[in-house]
Amino acid sequence: MTSFAYDVALAPEPAERGTAGDRPAGREAWALLEASGALAMRVDIQGRILQATEATADLLVYPHEYLLRTSVLDVIAPESRDSVAALLQACARDRAARRERVRFAGGIGGGWLDLRIAHQPGEPNTPPSLLLFGHDVTDWVENERQLNARAFLDPLTGVGNRAFIRRRIEQYMAGAASARVPFAVALMDLDGFKNINDSLGHEFGDALLKEVGARLQDTVRSQQSVARLGGDEFVLMLDGLESEAEAIRILERVIHVCRQPFLLGGCHVRITTSIGLAFSSAASGNVQPESESHWLRRADLAMYEAKALGKNRYCVYSPELDRRLDEQFRIEQSMFEAVQNGEFLLHYQPIVWPATGEVCAVEALMRWDHAGEFIRPDVFIPVAEKNGLIKHLGAWALRCACAQLAAWDAQGLQVGHMSVNVSAVQFLHPGFFESVRNAIQDAGISADRLVLEITESALMTDPKAAEDLLMSLRALGLRFAVDDFGTGYSSLSYLRRFPLSALKVDRSFVADMVDSPHARTIVSAVLSLARELGLVAIAEGVETDAQGELLAAQGCNLVQGWRYARALSPLDFEQALADGRLMLGRDEVFSLQVAG
Ligand code: C2E
Ligand code: CA
Ligand code: CA
Repeated sequence: MTSFAYDVALAPEPAERGTAGDRPAGREAWALLEASGALAMRVDIQGRILQATEATADLLVYPHEYLLRTSVLDVIAPESRDSVAALLQACARDRAARRERVRFAGGIGGGWLDLRIAHQPGEPNTPPSLLLFGHDVTDWVENERQLNARAFLDPLTGVGNRAFIRRRIEQYMAGAASARVPFAVALMDLDGFKNINDSLGHEFGDALLKEVGARLQDTVRSQQSVARLGGDEFVLMLDGLESEAEAIRILERVIHVCRQPFLLGGCHVRITTSIGLAFSSAASGNVQPESESHWLRRADLAMYEAKALGKNRYCVYSPELDRRLDEQFRIEQSMFEAVQNGEFLLHYQPIVWPATGEVCAVEALMRWDHAGEFIRPDVFIPVAEKNGLIKHLGAWALRCACAQLAAWDAQGLQVGHMSVNVSAVQFLHPGFFESVRNAIQDAGISADRLVLEITESALMTDPKAAEDLLMSLRALGLRFAVDDFGTGYSSLSYLRRFPLSALKVDRSFVADMVDSPHARTIVSAVLSLARELGLVAIAEGVETDAQGELLAAQGCNLVQGWRYARALSPLDFEQALADGRLMLGRDEVFSLQVAG
């Protein structure tokens, strides 16, 4: 600050309060200070302003005369006042210059100054004073603040990002962890978000994520924070909790607010969410996670558990979950061998006419006989989808089911048609068309006796590719049923676009239809939709007479469920036919179809 020191050295009588130097050199230096637009003043050791430039008055938006009647501490924001007073004292004491970024209270309203303080020895008989010079760094501070904030913000939703999570967890571990204050990390994932993105488009998907972020912010208390990990995964960091029960109350609220409809492009869209909670306190007995990734991994495991338990719920991490994950890993490992050892088999569940209970068709359902333990397809199919084995398993199931149909034909057991499930991963694989054609040709059955059950999401992942594939398979004579109908989010227009033959009403609706008018309405809407479009309606999961009668009364074409028969091994199926527990019926169900 040479110019300022120079100026003040030439300043007039120090005791006098005023504006400019009276000697020519002083005036020149003072003019230079005025031109700088910066804050320039001389104060006594208590901070009373002795001299100030007009530019200072302009900068602070105070009348110049007012400045000369006040103390510099009065124009400093309260939060900086103590530190400036201390700097003035220190500088007066040791005469060393000081520099500090301070906030001013003046008209620039909360602006920031880079303030420098220098000691000015007094003339003989006059006390020393202090020289203050500061330039306005408000814009710079604001930019810095924004950049900083942005580095921790998710640009789409405005909640925190991954770096923010890391920082928050590290802060917790540096402080509260040692004090054993409870802390929780909750990872949440929107159920079926992909469906919304696929069917409504990414713009609506983004709008939904934004709204979810806003709802989460509103739901958690201020010292608790929200961040997005990416995709549709959000993280809540819950601090200052009394207990795990308190964390759970927050999660219940989150589940509730996310369940409220979202208004997207004029329609109400509903979603649910699955949450995994990793809670840590001395009382929980769990070993404390050591890093941010540890916390997230635990919450992630719990979240997957929540999904596996049927979604729309939360689940709390426990070491037991870790054990189960190991088991899943084991399943995955043994699956490769199982394929070679022929541990997979197909069971067949009859699909019957509701009025007579006679068998029209069967659905092939995969079973894994793992050293006497039956592993359910709900467990191993997702694993096989992940590790790619589903392509082999699926192709095998097709061959095996077609061969079985041919074998029954040869025994004089005319089962109308065979339904085989096709997973999305398998369906989208380039070799799929070939594997279907080979299975039919090798078994020597007519293609119109094979029905492929495909889910809405498999169709909607790449609708154009799905359409081409279905068309070419349809040209061979195959038929398609939409499986688990009503559980996806697809727009209904695809029902016309694809060459479909049947809708399978998801068993969740069937389960509820006797008690819930709501479920009943959905079932009857699906049945009339099928009728309008000329599709065969098949209800799955029929367990009681009441359900079967209700469905028959509403015109459901075919039913399937434990009420009629479970999935049976080929031998058990043949036995049931032989002793009259099951009877083969008509098979011309597809001729019921009215062109849509
Ligand atoms: P899905 O296609 O919805 O098959 C119907 C499921 O409902 C079967 O379960 C069946 O055993 C069960 N079920 C049948 N009747 C009733 C009933 O009255 N009540 C109840 N509660 N359940 C009933 P499963 O065999 O455990 O198969 C589960 C899922 O695994 C199937 O659901 C299907 O998505 C998949 N899956 C089975 N086999 C295959 C396959 O070969 N390939 C593929 N990609 N997926 C398969
Ligand atoms: Ca099915
Ligand atoms: Ca189904």
